[in-house]
Amino acid sequence: REFEDFFLKRELLMGIFEKGFEKPSPIQEEAIPIILQNRNVLARAKNGTGKTAAYIIPCLEKTDTSKPEIQVLMLIPTRELALQTSAIVKEVGKHMNLQCMVTTGGTSLKDDIMRLYQPVHIIVATPGRILDLASKDVAKLGNCKTIIMDEADKLLSPEFQPVLEQLIGMCNEAHQICMFSATFPVTVKSFCQQFVPNPYSINL
Ligand code: AMP
Repeated sequence: REFEDFFLKRELLMGIFEKGFEKPSPIQEEAIPIILQNRNVLARAKNGTGKTAAYIIPCLEKTDTSKPEIQVLMLIPTRELALQTSAIVKEVGKHMNLQCMVTTGGTSLKDDIMRLYQPVHIIVATPGRILDLASKDVAKLGNCKTIIMDEADKLLSPEFQPVLEQLIGMCNEAHQICMFSATFPVTVKSFCQQFVPNPYSINL
């Protein structure tokens, strides 16, 4: 398989190749077409497999940059990882006129509120801060149809679990959830049963 086989936008393909990705890794081969079909996904994926680009690429493909609304929410357990993820979104999407915002705890809430006066297409966030912004209706998630949960085993800590449930409830009713996790503890399984119906499973 080649990246060309996914019929991606030309600007996106340029970003992928400029990043130095020549061919899709196995998880990308499997995940990209499924995420593009708007299906729920449950992927067992370790670091180093290319799992980050496996969800970033289809999310970029789905994003309509002519619409100034949040279309993708990427939930990440830590600030460091959120910053890394948003850096890759920006790099791969650099020819797309894409507006990606990263928002995490430990930074100025006021700056985030100011930033949201401008268009945002993709939000990369830790759960607490984005719930805060969404509850204030500063971040409007009503048109968000793609929710990514990376390192879901870490995201689904007892403190984050109710936050994630609320966030999902604020997104568009017709949303898809794509979960990536290195392990599948009970927390991930029961969350999936409740919130991620009929997922396409990826086990590599
Ligand atoms: P990840 O599993 O997302 O942590 O990615 C591991 C490493 O693989 C990162 O340094 C990526 O930049 C790199 N990578 C991801 N996809 C590809 C690809 N298709 N070709 C070459 N390198 C890749």
